[in-house]
Amino acid sequence: MRDSNSLHAVLKSRFGYDSFLGHQEEIVGNVLAGGDSLVLMPTGGGKSLCFQLPALVLGGLTLVISPLISLMKDQVDALNLNGIDARYINGTMSDLEVERVRSQVLAGRIRLLYVAPERLAHPEFRRFLSALDLSLIAIDEAHCISEWGHEFRPDYRNLRQLRDHFPSTPVIALTATATERVRRDVIVQLGLQEGRLFLSSFDRPNLTYTVQAKDRDWTQLTRLLEERRGQSSIVYCFSRQETEDLARFLNDRGLQARPYHAGLDAETRRRNQEDFIRDRLSVIVATIAFGMGIDKPDVRLVVHYGLPRSVEGYYQETGRAGRDGLPSDCVLFFSYADKARQEYFINRIEDASEQRNAREKLDRMVEFAQLPTCRRRFMLEYFGEQRLEANCGSCDVCLESRGSFDATEVTQKILSAVIRTGERFGVHHIIQVLTGSRDKRVLGLGHDRLSVYGIAKDAGRAQLREIIGQLQFVGLLKRAEGEFPTLLVSDAGRAFLQERRTLKLPRPQSPNAGSRRSATADYDEGLFEELRAVRRRLAGDRNVPAYVVFGDASLRHMAAAIPRCVADFLDIHGVGSTKAEQYSDAFLEAIQRYATENGVQPRKGASPVQRDSADQSEAGRPSEPRCLPGATCDETMRLMLQGLSVSEIAAHRRLSETTVIGHLERLANAGTALELERLLPDAERLSRMEEAFEACGSAYLRPVREYLGEGFTYEELRLARIHLRQSGLKDSP
Ligand code: ADP
Ligand code: ZN
Repeated sequence: MRDSNSLHAVLKSRFGYDSFLGHQEEIVGNVLAGGDSLVLMPTGGGKSLCFQLPALVLGGLTLVISPLISLMKDQVDALNLNGIDARYINGTMSDLEVERVRSQVLAGRIRLLYVAPERLAHPEFRRFLSALDLSLIAIDEAHCISEWGHEFRPDYRNLRQLRDHFPSTPVIALTATATERVRRDVIVQLGLQEGRLFLSSFDRPNLTYTVQAKDRDWTQLTRLLEERRGQSSIVYCFSRQETEDLARFLNDRGLQARPYHAGLDAETRRRNQEDFIRDRLSVIVATIAFGMGIDKPDVRLVVHYGLPRSVEGYYQETGRAGRDGLPSDCVLFFSYADKARQEYFINRIEDASEQRNAREKLDRMVEFAQLPTCRRRFMLEYFGEQRLEANCGSCDVCLESRGSFDATEVTQKILSAVIRTGERFGVHHIIQVLTGSRDKRVLGLGHDRLSVYGIAKDAGRAQLREIIGQLQFVGLLKRAEGEFPTLLVSDAGRAFLQERRTLKLPRPQSPNAGSRRSATADYDEGLFEELRAVRRRLAGDRNVPAYVVFGDASLRHMAAAIPRCVADFLDIHGVGSTKAEQYSDAFLEAIQRYATENGVQPRKGASPVQRDSADQSEAGRPSEPRCLPGATCDETMRLMLQGLSVSEIAAHRRLSETTVIGHLERLANAGTALELERLLPDAERLSRMEEAFEACGSAYLRPVREYLGEGFTYEELRLARIHLRQSGLKDSP
């Protein structure tokens, strides 16, 4: 059961994947060999499989420690949909429900049991545990055990005892937190000294990082979200108030958005999160409180509208984008005012070393926002990884190779404007003066008569704002502390003017840098949308999040490979046998209908759906189902022989007519003779259809239907086609 072939077989049949990702196979091997493992993998790296697959292979019970109830529920739902017996026990359940799960566990029917760490503190639960024989202990979000991490949870300290209680049970600890210190701490706290460390690259190649200068209003952000309408997006803001204001603002502009922060009542929070997860809401405007509890794989955009406090935090929050590996964007709107906001809080930290630590982290974050070089490289180096290529091709800097520009002149203008206006004004006023605004206040103060009035008319306001920010960063300007943030020229700034120094700065970002579209799709986008609708419907029926049914990657694969039968369907990424059984009818029907009506063909290179060579020999003709009709077709055949009509069979079997006709096509293709006469229309109609097929060929129905005009249904045409082919219809070339 443990050789590589059988592991691959389980991988395919239970999870629907064709191969392991990254270190997965090695990790699974180590777990199965009885070793401890510490798995460090970025979000979306595929950590769950590293304990879920061994849980199936080992048999018995795997205990999974997971810190968040919502995450737990989603994972369990997803496992159950794959036909894997998993349950959870948590505080939201009644005693009766808990009892039911326990007895299922005791009866040996459950492979994975998810619990929160606090549960381990219940003496009663400990008694229950000690009666069990655990095959594996999996500790998700293992960094929560470390006080050095940013998500420390005292309850995780119970885990040490758990481990001591089951000394011979292998432990697998998993985390996406990369810093060295936390990593070492996890090993010590969990007593994993003997274990193997599996460290993956923290690069997230499908994420594009972009930084934009932050404007005073929400225009740029709104534009960005409008371009991404309908895509799941998270916008992180600085304050609770801001999340609410922004959500309202976006709604007024017709963008569905809702706030999320710790100050909302639990019910509202739950509802907003739930709606987001279930694709009933596309934009969530949140404080950083949002995200840890969600596993949504198809978040396509993460925006930071406030400055994160550290690069770790930023990495983790942006990591919520594109967990499914598809291209996604991370956009940071940066302003020096936001830096000052964070500093305000840092200044209030009492412990001196903590304060220093926080300041260092913030400086690194500001550095990230200001980089004239690759942002990805910076981030990876931050986590101790070397990166060789100079150009990553997917951060704004590399994409624009924007480099730096000679900022000497504009700097002179800005510094002069600050001095000439008496060092009593903030950024906004300075920009008004420099750009020659007719603003009342400017005129009232007589600033339109200054020599600096209007000298930087050609520079955009956002650009000036950004350059002013950079001048603070390089120390030529300062911001006075006080009620109004006024700009002052520093000693270095005066020296700059007097000594006629020169200055290079990173080129200001163009306002739309974050809005690049990903490369042209290599799947049928119309079909993809249809499939999303099918998925939403099925998920709604079963009351699970849409992505639990299938991820976007699976739907895109379907929309590229155009599977025509269950065997094809099983080749789709993410389709295992349980899901194929449950969902193939619904998806195949939608795919067939769409493909026939729109003449869609499989995209080139849409592997791994393969076609029989016999199909391909008929050049130019879309391949026919390669699969042999299975039990479901036999059942249709049996009912046909009993004399039922297509609609009767459909009603009897609770299938659609389209699916039933699909069965007939499959039977006919496999060489079964079908007596369809009684299902066909009168001879006159039939001969008109025959004529149309002769004229247009029978490969696609759409041209045939157009030839005939309205009044003929696709169902009728498909039946006629089967009949005509059986009686020797020749397709015209
Ligand atoms: P993590 O917990 O590391 O953030 P997940 O376990 O949620 O990551 O997996 C991330 C995504 O990768 C999921 O959409 C999952 O279905 C997919 N995935 C995991 N393993 C494989 C694999 N071997 N092949 C293809 N996709 C995989
Ligand atoms: Zn780059």
